[in-house]
Amino acid sequence: MFDVAIIGAGIIGAMTARELSRYQLGVVILEKENDVAMGTTKANSAIVHAGFDAEPGTLKAKLNVAGSEVMEGICQELGVKYRRNGSLVVAYSEEDLPKVQELYDRGIANGVKELSVIGKDELKALEPSISDTAVAALYAKTGAIVCPYELNIAAVGNAMDNGVELKVNYEVTGIDAVEDGYVIHGTGEDVKARFIVNAAGVYSDKVAEMVGDHSFTITPRKGEYMLLDHDCVGDITHTLFNVPNKMGKGILVSPTVDNNLILGPTATNQEDREDKNTTPEGLAMVETNARRVVPGINTRGVITQFAGLRAVGNTGDYILTSPRKGFWNAGGVESPGLSSAPAIAHYLVEHMAAEGLALVPDETYNPCRKALHKFSEMSIEEKNEVIRQNPLYGHIVCRCETISEGEIVDAIHMNPPARDVDAVKRRTRAGMGRCQGGFCGPMVTEILAREWNIPMEQVTKFGGESYLNYGKTREVKSHDES
Ligand SMILES: Cc1cc2nc3c(=O)[nH]c(=O)nc-3n(C[C@H](O)[C@H](O)[C@H](O)COP(=O)(O)OP(=O)(O)OC[C@H]3O[C@@H](n4cnc5c(N)ncnc54)[C@H](O)[C@@H]3O)c2cc1C
Repeated sequence: MFDVAIIGAGIIGAMTARELSRYQLGVVILEKENDVAMGTTKANSAIVHAGFDAEPGTLKAKLNVAGSEVMEGICQELGVKYRRNGSLVVAYSEEDLPKVQELYDRGIANGVKELSVIGKDELKALEPSISDTAVAALYAKTGAIVCPYELNIAAVGNAMDNGVELKVNYEVTGIDAVEDGYVIHGTGEDVKARFIVNAAGVYSDKVAEMVGDHSFTITPRKGEYMLLDHDCVGDITHTLFNVPNKMGKGILVSPTVDNNLILGPTATNQEDREDKNTTPEGLAMVETNARRVVPGINTRGVITQFAGLRAVGNTGDYILTSPRKGFWNAGGVESPGLSSAPAIAHYLVEHMAAEGLALVPDETYNPCRKALHKFSEMSIEEKNEVIRQNPLYGHIVCRCETISEGEIVDAIHMNPPARDVDAVKRRTRAGMGRCQGGFCGPMVTEILAREWNIPMEQVTKFGGESYLNYGKTREVKSHDES
């Protein structure tokens, strides 16, 4: 019997697992996909929000500010890129100024530090490419950027290094309450646990229903994005938000920690919990609103488009509730959920402790995770040294992002292991560049087959039946002809 079973390996499940791994506890994460960070955490704006957006007094407000404050330290421990680039909410007219003031007042009430309203000259000095129509901005110096899936993967990896078990391809389908806890049924052997954390993202209401909790519902809200190549970032350094108004709501322009430029997101409610397709209308809206902030954006440099689904709850706040002893919901964790994740994890663990979960510190706990070698960021001396130790670092597989075979092999064997092509991509950036894996994809497939000792035909893009190869051309052809 585990002490805690966490359902869902997004950022909330990951941070909760890491928080629990400080203690002498048996913890398991159950994830329905072939890898971690496959839900909302994979596709969002990647902003560590300062905390001026949420209504004062809400969990969103408190946990956003608390999470944002500890994020930099956590990223250092986990070897994850983090940049405190600051954010600007841009006003274009006198009409927009009350909204800027409202956000400022909220930020102050929420305890956000280093917040100010700046005028046109200071704004232009900070961001020379910003639209000439901009008149003022809310400036949050504590706003930051991070890579959400890198953080998610690293947090699970660190939790696993400290003893947490991860079961992927385990979809929870039913839960029975028993005398000393719960029996979880799913696409694998039953799992018994004294406590359950429901961190199932857009499915968190469905998982809650498995224990008879019908207290909340989730509506998926799609957000579409465009991602631009490195040379499109230009002199943009801050995260640039439009003041929300009838022209455009919530669409931002921001550099990423990997020096791309991200534009988006839209906001459209839908019923489907899986549909993450982009649409021509959505992308057009992204482009129009992004150009409002930075008119000169070069959208010919788009290298990919994607969409993510917000898990919008019907309460307006995070749903961190316990409908029955030992069962904790982390539902409705929409934006700023990434920023709040460390604080949400802390909140859940504190509340489980109050219900009897014994938190005995584990003396062997190590908060630090060995980061993967980043070959492209090394000096020539460092490159020579790692190649001397392991010649696989001298073989560049992804030319767009300069990713070596050594890094890919490391990613396949580190916790949590990469089992498919997209998992390698999220850990190493092989396939993230301009050619989007057109060149390196087959080589990554070959390396995965070799390292997992499986035929090429069994390597998938993202688990399930997403096979990439169906056999040797000659064999497939003769089969077709027969
Ligand atoms: C468009 C958009 C922009 C955003 N921008 C930001 C931002 O800039 N900053 C910010 O702070 N936040 C942002 N957010 C919010 C943030 O991304 C989320 O709050 C956060 O990722 C939620 O994490 P999660 O772990 O709750 O959910 P998820 O990442 O979705 O993880 C849930 C996991 O549960 C698994 N699962 C579901 N059902 C089952 C089951 N039955 N059995 C087993 N596993 C299951 C899923 O496969 C998934 O891996 C944004 C969100 C969106 C959509």
